[in-house]
Amino acid sequence: MKTQIELAREGVVTKQMQTVAADENMDAERVRDGVAKGQIVIPNNPFCKERKVVGIGRGLRTKVNASIGTSSDICDIDLEVRKAVAAEEEGADTLMELSAAGDLDAVRRAVLAATSRPVGNVPLYQAFKETIRRTRNPAKLDPEYLFDLIERQLVDGLSFMAIHCGINQYTIRRLRKQGFRYGGLASKGGTFMVAWMDMNGKENPLYEQFDRVCSLMKKYDAVLSLGNGIRAGAIHDSHDRAQMAEMIVNCELAEIGRAMGCQTMVEGPGHVPLDEIAGNIMLEKRMSGNAPYYVLGPIPTDVGAGYDHVTAAIGAAASARHGADLICYITPAEHLSLPTEADVREGVRVTRLAVHIGDLSKYPERRERDRQAAMARRDMRWGDLQDLLLFPEVARAIRDSRRPEQSKTCTMCGDFCAMKKGMEIFDKEISGDKVANLG
Ligand code: SF4
Repeated sequence: MKTQIELAREGVVTKQMQTVAADENMDAERVRDGVAKGQIVIPNNPFCKERKVVGIGRGLRTKVNASIGTSSDICDIDLEVRKAVAAEEEGADTLMELSAAGDLDAVRRAVLAATSRPVGNVPLYQAFKETIRRTRNPAKLDPEYLFDLIERQLVDGLSFMAIHCGINQYTIRRLRKQGFRYGGLASKGGTFMVAWMDMNGKENPLYEQFDRVCSLMKKYDAVLSLGNGIRAGAIHDSHDRAQMAEMIVNCELAEIGRAMGCQTMVEGPGHVPLDEIAGNIMLEKRMSGNAPYYVLGPIPTDVGAGYDHVTAAIGAAASARHGADLICYITPAEHLSLPTEADVREGVRVTRLAVHIGDLSKYPERRERDRQAAMARRDMRWGDLQDLLLFPEVARAIRDSRRPEQSKTCTMCGDFCAMKKGMEIFDKEISGDKVANLG
């Protein structure tokens, strides 16, 4: 079986590329070209049930990922399935199943059965969990078991995987020589792999046998997402030498994977101050040859817990604006607890809003919906306005709960409605549609 990238290089426009082009309202040849160059990926494991085809990368709408999964403290498969359904209902483009407790095969299969979205995971979670269960010692993880497990998970129908290939002994030396790390290590899979390398005095098998990782991913045409194990967990660690060492390796691996015919994207960067987000994305794009960039947040302050879905949305709008391609949501529970179903809904909503804002600047030509909404608001066509909003039912519920005396206005200003008064005076002069008239 040939992968999307191999077919694209042969000039073939696949069914998946056509679907992406139709969804994005763009030419299918442009999608093919982006896939051929490794700038667009389509996570669409052909061995699983029919799933929504989603394109991620250059020229496409910025996508939203929702991560769910059990923990050792809260382990309820039904709850995780409900969260998967909730994330899809709220408009998440992809899902990551990141369970770390319970029967991991069962929860993965239940989530895959419950959603039509492409699903990804982090195979190191199950690898270390099972090793600890069997031997009580994560250092005993057998690399052969890890590779077998990756394939077993792919057979179930995962469309992408975050695999921590970029952590190597060089990266760890940079970390040790640095002398600081305000936020410590923030990646579960990455930290366990660092510990394994340290305890065994060996190189990361996922780095050492990178061609084997790519071959496995190619066999299922799954997208290899190069995990960010040394990501910054505090804004003061942003772009430190350890993080940059891993980023350089990941960008290099993205190039190697792409050359092998494996669809590849790069992950990053964790906590990043707002003024460094543009630079971070520029570095990833420049060093990887514009591989799709999958970012977590970024989170631009360390003191927002309780509202970190908003913190991350601010980072997400900036990162989408500067070229990030897939953004992992953050929920109100971030840094505090496992999210509830309500947290998942809220997280997806604010992240969708953030990427919409980012995309308005990334693609200024795609502002038509906002223009239509502005005109509906100006003309006080409340029904039309609500239909154009990202969250119409929320807007409708708020307005309906506080009805104004005059149907055209709202209870914010009542008799002092500036919109109504302004249009009464200037209707003839400003109610035109000049942008549309200009074509
Ligand atoms: S009442 Fe105030 S907030 Fe409401 S539509 Fe009029 S100007 Fe806008």
